[in-house]
Amino acid sequence: MLQIHQFPVLEDNYAFLVHDDASGETTCIDTPDAAAILAEADRKGWRITQIWNTHWHPDHAGGNSEIKARTGCIVSGPQEVERIGQAPDRVVKHGDTVKLGAFTANVIDVGGHTLGHIAYSLPAEKVAFVGDSIFALGCGRLFEGTAEQMWNSLSRIAALPDDTTLYCAHEYTASNARFALSVDPDNAALRARNDEITRLRSDNKPTVPMKLAAEKATNPFLRAPLLKAAIGMPTAPDYEAFGEIRKRKDNFR
Ligand code: ZN
Ligand code: FE
Repeated sequence: MLQIHQFPVLEDNYAFLVHDDASGETTCIDTPDAAAILAEADRKGWRITQIWNTHWHPDHAGGNSEIKARTGCIVSGPQEVERIGQAPDRVVKHGDTVKLGAFTANVIDVGGHTLGHIAYSLPAEKVAFVGDSIFALGCGRLFEGTAEQMWNSLSRIAALPDDTTLYCAHEYTASNARFALSVDPDNAALRARNDEITRLRSDNKPTVPMKLAAEKATNPFLRAPLLKAAIGMPTAPDYEAFGEIRKRKDNFR
């Protein structure tokens, strides 16, 4: 069985250690804080054997060199990770697979936040590590890609089974919920989820991971095709409606 250990690091990031008892392998999904991740692995008694990077940003790949120096682990990730130091040991792209013991993860292109952003989906476990592509009730900012590229990326995530558990890299949910309610105020599922999020956060509990089905029902970015009339773009292509909602979020206070 796969064990997934999630813990908060930095201001609002989550770190993830994924451990396979049978092989003794442990991978960390991104490296936001090398010291915290190494300490947590020690505490668990897990030896980090791999890193799987989602994109090049420092709060995702900034701890690679320190963790690799300390553990000798193998780094898999997109080519763009070379931008913060060294290229991954194994460059992976859409359609590739990576292994943790007997477990297989499919690499999915989710470019948009950065051009080379990838996600790791473990279909047998019905879990996916999505970095800064989709967030609970949100999605990554378009720093490098276009709205069309990001829409296609989100559509790839939406094509996973509805009961897939999504592990995103930031606790942005409460502020995402405020924006979501501003564009989709009549959505009863969203209102109920907002109440739940308020409860969780007031108890200082994480809202991550989340189920894909819940995102489909409440995430305004995935719901762009259904919100066209509400945003005054009844005949726009889906990606343009998505782009408009993303723009509104960028300017939302
Ligand atoms: Zn990022
Ligand atoms: Fe990030």
